[in-house]
Amino acid sequence: MDADTTLRRLGLADPHAVALAADRRSGSGQTLAVRGCIDGATLAAFPQAVAADVDEAVRVAQEAFETLRCVPAPRRGELVRRLGNKLRERKSDLGAVVTLEAGKSVQEAEGEVQEMIDVCDFAVGLSRQLYGLTIATERPHHRMMEQWHPLGPVAVITAFNFPVAVWAWNAALALVCGDPVVWKPSEKTPLTALACHGILQEVIGESGDLGVPAGVSGVLVGGREVGEAMADHHGFPLVSATGSVRMGRAVGAAVGARLGRSLLELGGNNAMIVAPSADPDLALRAITFSAFGTAGQRCTTMRRLIVHEEAADGLLPRLKKVASTLQIGDPRDAGVLLGPLIDEAAHQAMQRALECARDAGATVTGGERVTEGVPGGVYVRPAIVEGLEAGSPLIAEETFAPILYVLPYRELDEAIRIHNDVPQGLASAIFTADVREAERFLSASGSDCGIANVNIGTSGAEIGGAFGGEKDTGGGRESGSDAWKNYMRRATNTINFGHDLPLAQGVNFEA
Ligand code: NAD
Repeated sequence: MDADTTLRRLGLADPHAVALAADRRSGSGQTLAVRGCIDGATLAAFPQAVAADVDEAVRVAQEAFETLRCVPAPRRGELVRRLGNKLRERKSDLGAVVTLEAGKSVQEAEGEVQEMIDVCDFAVGLSRQLYGLTIATERPHHRMMEQWHPLGPVAVITAFNFPVAVWAWNAALALVCGDPVVWKPSEKTPLTALACHGILQEVIGESGDLGVPAGVSGVLVGGREVGEAMADHHGFPLVSATGSVRMGRAVGAAVGARLGRSLLELGGNNAMIVAPSADPDLALRAITFSAFGTAGQRCTTMRRLIVHEEAADGLLPRLKKVASTLQIGDPRDAGVLLGPLIDEAAHQAMQRALECARDAGATVTGGERVTEGVPGGVYVRPAIVEGLEAGSPLIAEETFAPILYVLPYRELDEAIRIHNDVPQGLASAIFTADVREAERFLSASGSDCGIANVNIGTSGAEIGGAFGGEKDTGGGRESGSDAWKNYMRRATNTINFGHDLPLAQGVNFEA
């Protein structure tokens, strides 16, 4: 399907008009040229929102909040159920825009839309399970309980590499929790955002019976300054921000300075330990997808392979062979695993890292730019780097490209130490058939990451679990488990149904 048809099928034939309508703004910002990364062609160009537009977006969201917070949670869940169904109908169309803008293979792009559907299903169930507690009270004829109430408008700032799923993780939960969402997508993938916003508005338009106002969903297509204005704005009790550690530090500081709540989902530097007892075929398959899939542009991409000296000789030649023969090219073609990098800057960052590695005496296999048989974007062969010291500053950084650093080890303690010796703490894995090693890795003295897997690669999480990581990854948790609590405020209520006024801690006084 060509780009024009793809956009038309999602009502984006005139993205300029759609953007202005979605943002409810004057369109006074600089023109944003949206490039598709498959071939670098310009897909659309329209004026961006500016920081001053945030006030109006907040006003609309706050007005919508007044209504939404009083709509019973199961009815809010019904809206999200209808959103999930609409996404089922539009799955391949929306997936096609993800492929166009973010360069994901058709399978991965549709998989991302499936994740949106899955989290909608999860949120529908949740809408009847926003449970509080009844707590034993020390005072006679009293009852103490906890309730969870809607929090208010949520600012959602997202990265280019998961242009739709991360919004859905936030929006589906926020909506059932009673919170409107104002979304600032990555300036590299605004069309997917406009498409999602359009789909939700369509659902709201068809759902007059639910009494949910259109203002529960807003989108501001703009750059970093719009994100900064959102982080600073008191109208957002919660800012959920996904992106680089640099961005998270800025957002966390701004939101913290006004004592707001932030949910930070930042960069990873994910590793897999391959023990001598690991199933070599399973490990090879997991490394291939985790390290090279999505052209190394997942927050959970595996960047470090910590391999036991005994396993290395069998594994590494096979891995290099796979890396040198993987199909790279137009992500719309069947069989392609690696689509393009997002832009030239990503390619430059990759080449800089490889040069640094060579300067430090490492051996680099692969990593070259692919120019033949590709449609004109930035395509690269994955790189495998051997010979760097585990503590090298280069390895401590997340380079958002398919580079895999190989680090040998002898003892599990050493492997775990190498594993944890980076600033980030998102996803991790061990491949082993030894139950002691597996349990140790998952224990308090094992992996220090938010996600720790056994005999599964680092990338590709399910929505049912809480997603996020520790240290520089930001500490936030989204999606499943009890991540919904981020989107609500807790009230502790105590009710006296007696005729006395006993005080807590036995305090007594004459009055
Ligand atoms: P980025 O940090 O450049 O941009 C992310 C978003 O933040 C964009 O919308 C951008 O406009 C905005 N932004 C940038 N600076 C800001 C500031 N100072 N204040 C407010 N907003 C600001 O990230 P990217 O290049 O789009 O995405 C790649 C990064 O995102 C990688 O580090 C990756 O690991 C991370 N990521 C993390 C997760 C996760 O769940 N942990 C998921 C996806 C991506």
